[in-house]
Amino acid sequence: MRSGHKGSRGRRRRRRRTPYTRATAVVFRQDNEVLLVKHHGQDDWALPGGRVAAGEDPAQRAVTEVAEETGVHITDPEHVGRYAGTVASHEIYVAEGSGEPNPDLREIQDAIWWDTSQPLQVQPHVDAILDIVDAVSDDIEILDSEDEEIEVRPDNADSPSVPDLQMTPPVERPRTSLEDPKLESDTHRPRNWTSYAATAWAWVVMVALLIADWLIWVMLRTRSDERRIRPTKRVSWRKGLKQELMKRQDNTCGYCGYRRIARTLDIDHMIPAVRGGSNDESNLQVICRPCNQRKGLQTDQEFRARYSRLVPAAPLTPPKRRISQSEFKEETRRTSQAASAREFRKRRYITPREKIVSGCFISGGAVFGIALFGLAAIGAEGLLLLFPALILSVAIGLGIWLRAYMTGATSEVEG
Ligand SMILES: [Zn+2]
Repeated sequence: MRSGHKGSRGRRRRRRRTPYTRATAVVFRQDNEVLLVKHHGQDDWALPGGRVAAGEDPAQRAVTEVAEETGVHITDPEHVGRYAGTVASHEIYVAEGSGEPNPDLREIQDAIWWDTSQPLQVQPHVDAILDIVDAVSDDIEILDSEDEEIEVRPDNADSPSVPDLQMTPPVERPRTSLEDPKLESDTHRPRNWTSYAATAWAWVVMVALLIADWLIWVMLRTRSDERRIRPTKRVSWRKGLKQELMKRQDNTCGYCGYRRIARTLDIDHMIPAVRGGSNDESNLQVICRPCNQRKGLQTDQEFRARYSRLVPAAPLTPPKRRISQSEFKEETRRTSQAASAREFRKRRYITPREKIVSGCFISGGAVFGIALFGLAAIGAEGLLLLFPALILSVAIGLGIWLRAYMTGATSEVEG
């Protein structure tokens, strides 16, 4: 058998993670050649093998992996011990093989028979496992199956001939391999594709939310610009205009007819400026403050119609009766404002874009929430951490809508 190189001790492994069980095959040819594989992206060689699934027979896994990776067929691999590596716990199987390797290029880049007397850049587990195999082979003859006298066949870890090997730190030969991270990325890592897909999906969600946030920010900026031009600006009337209007109306409010002093009467656009009314004197009147507040964005015609329901009068004729505040209040509550004024305000203060964006946020957040619940149910519990983001999304949507609605509803503008 090959001669073991006992060398300097390697430094301690740096970190520990829960190792998985790997069936690792040491396949010999002519006693001194060992079958090695090199994985894609790796510079150093490894022993063929693969992860053992729960309930799977590791011996069968070893046979399968050797066949898949190298095209070399082995039978009856012999379990000789276990090597606790940093990444994997290797169940070591020894077998005899022959023929030239025919590697599966999708999985690995090359496979060779390594003459162990020749230097080669191998991964740490190769040295350590070969040392274990060497040690075991002092006691049992593995390859000579014709020798019936050999009865020591340690089939499992509990076998008395191998226990001292199991937890023994591997004696490492002079390091020919690169660093451990290579080893970690080499061997078959657990792959939970559901989890990967869910994580990718979560990132998509997060990016979508960020884009939506940005859109809303842009939109709100635009809206505030829009608001800035809303017609709260005071028009400076020419001197004497108010006196002329008051004289024309005999110092009375255009609606309730109540006689007021100049200080309590306002100049009013019969058709509000924001709805296209001009500053021409034909569109102006003086009205009292209570009437002005209630008129809001209604046109003179709309308001007068409502007013006339309380105080019947010929159109455009002052009813000459003052209406009490309680009467006004009741009527205001009952009719609110004219539908056309409401429609106008909605059009102006809740833009379609706003409706769409806030709606997207609310329904999108809800849909993603349901989707995440589904993903969590199939094993991606980590995604539940995204729920605060989804709730935030719904809240943002509601906030935008409410803000738009409330702003619109309270933007009583002098007409
Ligand atoms: Zn009035």
